[in-house]
Amino acid sequence: METYDALLASITAAPGQDSRTMIDPATGTAVGEAPVHTLEDLERAITAAQAAQPGWAALGHDPRSAALLKAADAVERSAEELARLLSREQGKPLNGPNARFEVGACAAWLRAAATTPLTPETVVDDGETYAELHYKPIGVVGAIGPWNWPMMITVWQLAPALRMGNAVVVKPSEYTPLSVLALVKVLNEELPEGLLTAVSGGRDVGEALAGHPAIGKIMFTGSTATGKAIIKSSADTVKRLTLELGGNDAGIVLHDADPKTIAQDLFWGAFINTGQTCAALKRLYVHTDIYDAVCSELTAVAAATPMGNGLDEDNVLGPLQNQAQYDIVAGLVEAARDSGAKILIGGNPDTTRPGHFYPTTLVADIDNNNPLVAEEQFGPALPIIRYTTVDEAVAMANALDVGLGASVWSPNLTEARKVAARLDAGTVWINKHGAVDPRVPFGGAKQSGYGLEFGVEGLKALGVPQVING
Ligand code: NAD
Repeated sequence: METYDALLASITAAPGQDSRTMIDPATGTAVGEAPVHTLEDLERAITAAQAAQPGWAALGHDPRSAALLKAADAVERSAEELARLLSREQGKPLNGPNARFEVGACAAWLRAAATTPLTPETVVDDGETYAELHYKPIGVVGAIGPWNWPMMITVWQLAPALRMGNAVVVKPSEYTPLSVLALVKVLNEELPEGLLTAVSGGRDVGEALAGHPAIGKIMFTGSTATGKAIIKSSADTVKRLTLELGGNDAGIVLHDADPKTIAQDLFWGAFINTGQTCAALKRLYVHTDIYDAVCSELTAVAAATPMGNGLDEDNVLGPLQNQAQYDIVAGLVEAARDSGAKILIGGNPDTTRPGHFYPTTLVADIDNNNPLVAEEQFGPALPIIRYTTVDEAVAMANALDVGLGASVWSPNLTEARKVAARLDAGTVWINKHGAVDPRVPFGGAKQSGYGLEFGVEGLKALGVPQVING
């Protein structure tokens, strides 16, 4: 375990190395100098991965699982330093479902990947035919991630890859490289040399990784637009892909839900990580009978939930991570206001304070075609749309070309499950939204991507299936 300063110094750009100053989105002050790695650095990382992978694969599942369990312990030993760096670079507060929570999830997902059983499956055994299904390592896996949950998503990608006997080259988002470099540094306390490397370059490095002949699979989490680019760059080498892309999750509150009971969970379903979450609730459909009550209960929760500098233990909401995302959120709220929608709370950013803070914003009486509803806002602004019949709510929820998550809210579980089955989304939660679990498969429908992460399905996705027949 190192101090915060020692950990940061160990991943900071060397003198003379190309670097980028990472700015704390809460204060506008410098966090550290991130190295800007080059295509040559990428080649070196891939060569080292190719050299380390066969020995790692030959160890078999049990020693690899043991190393991942030790890596989880290493994350816990450095948890406070990692959470502090994550809070400073990403902006999310230490407290609430934020930085400490994210670091805790890294350890939990490493342990889950290490302990999920995966044994060869006997597919047919009828006396004449005997066929078994095995999963072999792919080789070297590329992991390309976003800036919203940079550590946790990196672990989602690398933990099953390592468990299955692969080496991994990670390409972090250029907005949050220090967080990922620090995480990888800590994990490498327990892993063989060369097996896992983070190459903190720009889009060019991501593109080169996605097209590289030595990479057998890309695990990608990010925008739908980049996902489409990766499909194209991976085509010539027929790479395997798992794509977790953008979403615009709908929540449907049925007529019999109790507004007061569900208000906190609705709020956090939408505003976790200040709305910068792939599977956050981004459009809320509320039955007309309880519309006003849901709006007022949500407004009360929003007013009572503190936003500010993440290192202040009182705050549980933070800034937008970057100016571009701030501009998207501000523009969508302005357009909604101009269209005549009603701002229940928020919508008036204090432009004199430092940092990319956009206030928690709830927008009512808004048309379903408004851009704040139809586009992914990825920030702290939730549109609340009134509906009268369940058919109408389901049609609106299913109208977009993305389908990551969705939720249905009602004390009547039988009815809620019936509505859930009608929604086009990879996961439909009931009376919660966005709760992920390392044992439960997670993936998108429509243009939210393909492939599953987590659980045994997630492990299988990091192997090459091989049938032994005879
Ligand atoms: P992004 O697509 O802009 O960038 C993601 C990563 O891709 C970065 O590391 C970037 O450098 C890299 N990249 C960019 N162009 C590339 C190319 N041509 N080839 C290869 N790599 C390239 O996404 P972002 O803005 O960092 O993340 C926000 C988006 O991610 C949102 O749309 C959000 O919904 C989505 N997201 C999805 C999930 C999920 O699980 N489905 C989780 C988190 C975020």
